[in-house]
Amino acid sequence: MKLALHWKIIIGMLVGIIIGIVCKYFSLDHLVIQWIKPFGTIFINLLKLIAIPLILASLIKGVSDLHDINKFKSMGLWTFSIYIATTVFAVCIGLVLVNIIKPGNIVDPQVINDLSANFADSMTGKIQEANDTQSTGPLQFLIDMVPDNIFAAASSNGNMLKVIFFSVFFGIALLLIDNNSAKPVKDFINGLNDVIMKMVDIIMLFAPFAVFALLSSLIVETPDASLFIALLWYMLTVIIGLALVLISYGFYIYFFAGKKPLWFYKGIFPAQLLAFSTSSSAATLPVTMERLEEHLGVEKEVTSFVCPLGATINMDGTSLYQAVAAVFICEALQFPLTFSDQLTIVLTATLASIGSAAVPGAGLIMLVVVLESLGLPASKMAIGLSLIFAVDRPLDMLRTVINVTGDAMVTIIIGKKFNKLKTPQTKNWDDNLKEVS
Ligand code: ASP
Repeated sequence: MKLALHWKIIIGMLVGIIIGIVCKYFSLDHLVIQWIKPFGTIFINLLKLIAIPLILASLIKGVSDLHDINKFKSMGLWTFSIYIATTVFAVCIGLVLVNIIKPGNIVDPQVINDLSANFADSMTGKIQEANDTQSTGPLQFLIDMVPDNIFAAASSNGNMLKVIFFSVFFGIALLLIDNNSAKPVKDFINGLNDVIMKMVDIIMLFAPFAVFALLSSLIVETPDASLFIALLWYMLTVIIGLALVLISYGFYIYFFAGKKPLWFYKGIFPAQLLAFSTSSSAATLPVTMERLEEHLGVEKEVTSFVCPLGATINMDGTSLYQAVAAVFICEALQFPLTFSDQLTIVLTATLASIGSAAVPGAGLIMLVVVLESLGLPASKMAIGLSLIFAVDRPLDMLRTVINVTGDAMVTIIIGKKFNKLKTPQTKNWDDNLKEVS
């Protein structure tokens, strides 16, 4: 019997966790780090390797297939508005929960002392990193979006917005030139696009082994479990919030796309598993797009634009986490917050999540921006960050799942709105293999 991919991935994850625990118990950490972890890293590299060519090829194809620039404008506006609305909603859920549960009042002062003694020094670098990332003026983000050299921009996965800008620009120009000149370019882009989607299929064959490697190395590298217990209420607040956001997506799918929530959750499940294992929406992007196109039936005109944009700017999980973490830190360090401070959090957590890179740990770095806007002194900032640093990775894994699912949910709603949600034509990695053999 042929086991579905998501089952293979789940088995890989479980075996990884078990092997990780066993190796940690017998102090065999070095074996896992030296001999198993590299396969996880190679897998993430492979996914990242195709992210930029994927955006280039699929976005140019998507825009040039639209046949109408006005449609693109309206799609952009809708996408952006829904992304912002869902992010603000996620921040509000986080704020309501953290104000009800008040995890900052439950944490033991001794834990704060211990953690700040251990980690405060290493946090200064993160605060600096966040300050470097902060824009130098209100329009800096626009400057950052327009590349001065496409080859330079395409040489780093951190430049996704620049690549998106170039591809949209190129696609629009391709729409505007006469058909004879456009055809060979379009044919080339179409072919390129198919090749890259096939590469995603092939890479996914290794996913079960890769998640095994990623999770077993993560387990041997996690700090003492007692920390998780000390920060249990903080973690629970974030987790409950993320679960509520996840459930809300089902409602959106039902009411705005007229589809069953289970259809959606099932279709996107493999991408969620990868988001969990890699903690990176950027690395998961190729799989998110593949699932939406080939398994949920959204057409490329929509996925090619909505997904890469979402991976870069739409992070509902991260924004919720930043809101909870900011209030938790202020409470634990006895830094009182007013109602208007909470409103500031709605604004800054939304912006900070937009500014967070789609890579592991980025949300924690941009949390500095939220804390600074609240006026938390620098000395307390390092203590605050060190307080949540040790348990950040598991929360990062979970919030990345929500980030990716949120992008997928909006893609489906936009697909429905623009009549681009059809019956999927599933493609397998080995289609055509026989002929080639
Ligand atoms: N790891 C998250 C992502 O890639 C970002 C974060 O919250 O750290 O989506």
